[in-house]
Amino acid sequence: MKDSVSLYIHFPFCVRKCNYCSFYSVAYGDGEIFDKYTNAVIKRINSLPRHQVRTVYFGGGTPTVLGVERLNEILETVVKTQSLDQNAEITLEANPKTVKGNDFNILRDAGFNRLSLGFQSGDEDTLKLLGRIYGANDFYKCYDEAYKHFTNISVDIMFALPYDKSKGYSIKPLCETLEALTAMKVPHISAYSLILEEGTPLYRNKSSYAFPDENREEDEYTFICSYLSDEGYQHYEISSFSLPGFESRHNPIYWKRGSYIGIGPAAHSYYNNRRFSAPPDIDYFIKNADRPFLADTDYDFAKEITPDEAEKERIMLGLRTSDGVLLEREKLIIAEKLSEAGFGSLKGNVFSLNDKGFRVSNSVITLLI
Ligand code: SF4
Repeated sequence: MKDSVSLYIHFPFCVRKCNYCSFYSVAYGDGEIFDKYTNAVIKRINSLPRHQVRTVYFGGGTPTVLGVERLNEILETVVKTQSLDQNAEITLEANPKTVKGNDFNILRDAGFNRLSLGFQSGDEDTLKLLGRIYGANDFYKCYDEAYKHFTNISVDIMFALPYDKSKGYSIKPLCETLEALTAMKVPHISAYSLILEEGTPLYRNKSSYAFPDENREEDEYTFICSYLSDEGYQHYEISSFSLPGFESRHNPIYWKRGSYIGIGPAAHSYYNNRRFSAPPDIDYFIKNADRPFLADTDYDFAKEITPDEAEKERIMLGLRTSDGVLLEREKLIIAEKLSEAGFGSLKGNVFSLNDKGFRVSNSVITLLI
């Protein structure tokens, strides 16, 4: 049996495209394409060598648009063909309005043990502006149903969100979003700033809205960090906050340079010391599903990562986390200066960033690699 890996399975379908979204996903799909896609994913899983699997992540897109039967069939294939750790973390991403009450029960019975729910904001106007398919109450209802069957739930929120020019800027919607989630004692919260990507409807209509400037964006991030810290959340990675015991086990595989195999169009992998991906093309993925392991990706063209590149990755990814990174002597002098300037702390030879440091992590990383 091969070394241990994590699996990421991509589901590139959504009910409709959100106005800010540049991920590879399409807003179409019917039973026929979902069946074909499910069969293709199953073939790809069957082509994998047997590994010890530590974590499995069903992400998207919106995996739950495929319906619970198809998702369960895929998970069953993973269980049958791989050596899944007994306590493997098995996460499913879901959006309100794509899952019904009893679905959570069925998914939990099938072996999923963690949910990642999209929320983004508790403010109705903002949800409409973002083009989300649900309102705040739909989310709260969905969360309550989910929580009857899942205790390990993560919720995504966004900050630096656009707002109606005529109403002016206020931090109140963000404050209310956090108040609601912490009152519900949501075990894990991921907070991402909105990136205005070219080619999205939001980008095309950007002149219709106002966007928080850099200072406000920084204030919002600082506000999130201190609010969640006061509520007992640990800030264990730039964007990730958890109540004790609810840290994600899948994402740290990425940050610690563990091996993972991505299945599906646009899915990335890190395997055999190479980073590679599959073309962002659903038809290509389905047509090539019978090919041998990795033959539907650009694995053969990916170069092995050199020791120098590996060291840069270790520092870059490690600094995303509150565990920080072990540094060599010549870099400790820089780390010491960064600590004195209030961006992090140095314990022995391990340097980690704090909330202030996370905000400028790109610049800090440039200094240290
Ligand atoms: S649900 Fe997620 S992946 Fe789908 S369009 Fe919206 S942001 Fe993009």
